Amino acid sequence: MSKEAQQRMEKIVSLCKRRGFIFQSSEIYGGLNGFWDYGPMGVELKRNLKDFWWRRNVHEREDMVGMDGSIIMNRAVWKASGHEETFSDPMVDCRTCKARHRADQLPQKDGTPYCPACGGRDLTEPRAFNLMLKSYAGPLENDDNLVYLRPETAQAMFVQFKNILETSRKKLPFGIAQIGKAFRNEINPRNYIFRSREFEQMEIEYFCRPEDGLALTDYWLEERLKFYEDIGIPRAKIKIHDIPDGERAFYSKKTYDLEYEFPFGVSELEGVAYRTDYDLSAHMKHSGKPLEYFDDEKKEKFVPHVVEPSAGVDRTALALICEAFDEEEVTDEKGNKEVRTILRFHPRIAPVKCGIFPLLKNKPALVEKAKAVAAALRPHMMVFYDEAGAIGRRYRRQDEIGTPFCVTVDFDTIGENGPEKVDTVTLRHRDSMQQERIPIAGLRARLEAAIF
Ligand code: ATP
Repeated sequence: MSKEAQQRMEKIVSLCKRRGFIFQSSEIYGGLNGFWDYGPMGVELKRNLKDFWWRRNVHEREDMVGMDGSIIMNRAVWKASGHEETFSDPMVDCRTCKARHRADQLPQKDGTPYCPACGGRDLTEPRAFNLMLKSYAGPLENDDNLVYLRPETAQAMFVQFKNILETSRKKLPFGIAQIGKAFRNEINPRNYIFRSREFEQMEIEYFCRPEDGLALTDYWLEERLKFYEDIGIPRAKIKIHDIPDGERAFYSKKTYDLEYEFPFGVSELEGVAYRTDYDLSAHMKHSGKPLEYFDDEKKEKFVPHVVEPSAGVDRTALALICEAFDEEEVTDEKGNKEVRTILRFHPRIAPVKCGIFPLLKNKPALVEKAKAVAAALRPHMMVFYDEAGAIGRRYRRQDEIGTPFCVTVDFDTIGENGPEKVDTVTLRHRDSMQQERIPIAGLRARLEAAIF
């Protein structure tokens, strides 16, 4: 990482802590490597992201339904899917400092890998390390009760395929969508929330006829690019990596990785994979239950193929923050130059939609009116009422959390300067810092149009 990129990343991490986006899990006990907590702003950001994904992929489509599967499933699922056998990363130990690393991520000097912790070259041979976190369901901690915390949400959608097909009465092509936690005992969690041991996924399994699989993979790639654009990550910022033959999973006929240029490097946000009939066939074989589809018109029975767009909530949240982070030099009312830190979130993703301020906190009429404006908007969107400090400081605080709009109630609003501007407020725009005067009565519709 260049020094500049490192500084940018440090600023982002510090802003996220200072403004209540992301904290280390269990921080007062020294944290836990690979686990993170989302604070008041972070949880809103993630909710907005997940809600919009759900709206786009479930509510706005006739060919999709949702589900919410359990995190712990019958161990047989993971035997059938191949995870118990092969869901592993190659691990090496450094014999000098005892640190453990992923063999495929070791830095190299003169063509020889070395330990990034101590620089030593005395490394063990790589061996497979299974990434599934284990637990026990039931009172006995024995092999019969061994369970795994799911490493992906996808399997529940395959094993419930038949139930969902029957209850939803969908015809091919149709998809199942799910958002939920997944767990991987990553050897080296790193790059902030990019690679953690507990994270959330937003996954779709889109079932289709075999002959449509390849074209639908391209279709979903395009849908997903549109999605990123609609949350404020331009198409030009996403690199499409068409995984070449020989590098894809053996069952996949096509896989695209969608990558974003994080400060620490270009890295995967999402994978769109054409998985053929691998998953349903594997579960059919291991469970002994039929998972075929019967096409009424063609009078034929077959195992559907599937296209899987699989995205990470946390990685997308990080991309949104990195994309939105900006600093600009501005001159305040007194002519002093200062740096304005802004998160330029798309309004639909921004944690707080509107800051609402009385111009002065010691004027009861202003305070009362501003509180009434906030109360009227609250059922419809996340607003933040703030009366502390100079108005400029209050704007800056909202800029730092990415609030797209701020409303100020002033003496015009309460009619102290004549009747023309009664019940109007100033609406201030985060990016341009421009202000306009609008009636309170039109505020809700105006904001709702921008944040939808
Ligand atoms: P990587 O190669 O980065 O480990 P992957 O190819 O194993 O990722 P998938 O199995 O395709 O990832 O998982 C789908 C998505 O889930 C990823 O694109 C990513 O957004 C998210 N994801 C996977 N592992 C993690 C993790 N450890 N932390 C955060 N998000 C993750």
